[in-house]
Amino acid sequence: MLIAFDNSYSKLPERFYSRQNPTPVADPALVRFNTTLAAEIGVNAEALGPEVLAGNRIPTGAEPMALGYAGHQFGHFVPQLGDGRAILLGEVVGPDGIRRDIQLKGSGPTFYSRDGDGRAAIGPVIREFVVSEAMAALGIPTTRALAVVTTGERVIREQTLPGAILARVAPSHIRVGTFQFHFARGDVEALRLLTDYVIERHYPEVATAASPVLALLESVVARQAALVARWMQVGFIHGVMNTDNMSISGETIDYGPCAFMDGYHPGRVFSSIDRQGRYAWDNQPQIAHWNLSRFAQTLVALIPGDQEKANRDAQMVLNTFPEAFSRAFSSGFTRKIGILTSRSEDSDLVNALLGVMAESEVDFTLLFHRLTDSVETGDDAAVRALFNNPEGFDRWAERWRRRTVGEDAKARILAMRAANPVFIPRNHRLEEVIAAANNGDYAPFKRVTAVLARPYEQQPENATYENPPEPDEIVHATFCGT
Ligand code: AMP
Ligand code: MG
Repeated sequence: MLIAFDNSYSKLPERFYSRQNPTPVADPALVRFNTTLAAEIGVNAEALGPEVLAGNRIPTGAEPMALGYAGHQFGHFVPQLGDGRAILLGEVVGPDGIRRDIQLKGSGPTFYSRDGDGRAAIGPVIREFVVSEAMAALGIPTTRALAVVTTGERVIREQTLPGAILARVAPSHIRVGTFQFHFARGDVEALRLLTDYVIERHYPEVATAASPVLALLESVVARQAALVARWMQVGFIHGVMNTDNMSISGETIDYGPCAFMDGYHPGRVFSSIDRQGRYAWDNQPQIAHWNLSRFAQTLVALIPGDQEKANRDAQMVLNTFPEAFSRAFSSGFTRKIGILTSRSEDSDLVNALLGVMAESEVDFTLLFHRLTDSVETGDDAAVRALFNNPEGFDRWAERWRRRTVGEDAKARILAMRAANPVFIPRNHRLEEVIAAANNGDYAPFKRVTAVLARPYEQQPENATYENPPEPDEIVHATFCGT
């Protein structure tokens, strides 16, 4: 009945974190336990009962702490953010050899809470559970959700809501903002320790490079380019790509006002606090690049020798981002339209499709799903029906058919099915799940997560979950609600 904690972050100096136990709650009750994930990460489900998941009992070997980090929030630098409502219990090493953090989110105030209560409402907790587990099932790198418990307490937001705690699992919780935290304090020694730690934990292959620091930057750039391209290929909008919400190990982290778009528009924004569209769907690569520049800035002093040269070298690595992103974006989207070979004109073909889709604000997920069907059946009717003005689509489809002449149809269909999900966490469904959970009904939560666990499979019995919202169900804005 033990959790085999094997903590490494706690061996870093005390200025990296603040030791803090979770604050006990009135009445812990388990809503959900992710048994599959527990097995994957090598924890014993019995050892992680509601008392532990709620923070009422500290298991042997845990070293609870809130991590320090800084961050640029909507472009403005805040030198101290930190875990204001999350506490790292400790780390475990899974049967796969991967070290992971187990964190409780919503577990009470910490040194970093400022005016916040350190708590979370059931809605955002369930939202993060559903969306992060959907991302994992889609094959997109992400933090994971291990469990949801309710606290038996209310939290005060715009209204009072049931309190809950999410047990989150991640390869680590080190962010661009973690580097910025020490950089802002001029603490080069801490930056050196953090860099060595990150290389050992996440990028051991760069340790032997001529310049491990530059090689680290290169790898982080590559992982972020690939990640943002993956997001965009499923219509995902993170919503708060602040530097404190960008993980160094390359997973999607911090599911706040994120959303999967229904009707396609490249400038789509959902977050109610993103008034300028800084984090719009098509602005995500530029923002990732900007965030990575902030990361690079913290590393320059660690590159030995002439600082001007170090700056130039770091800049050169950063300059690889747009190209790396474009390649990932284009190859992902060509797979979505069933092109298995690569030609220079392909990205133009992809952009042309996105262009006609935007004109009719066609449902992003349905479009690619029906396009796949059309390759299988040879009939365009269903996909055409998505457009207000199908002539634009017809012209594109003609070009597309010419491009794919001679490619193996079976292989194309397989590739398209593997790249085009049937099910995504649609906003109106999430709202339904959250509204029910606010009333203590978790049945919709259970149903939706079961459907989203197999996003690429046809599930005729769950076909209604494929549907876009009816006009009166459309969700226009999402909220942090923290
Ligand atoms: P986020 O918007 O989730 O990325 O959070 C930004 C910062 O605000 C982080 O430092 C969080 O820990 C902190 N924060 C968010 N919600 C709360 C809360 N309810 N209590 C204390 N701190 C919070
Ligand atoms: Mg955050």
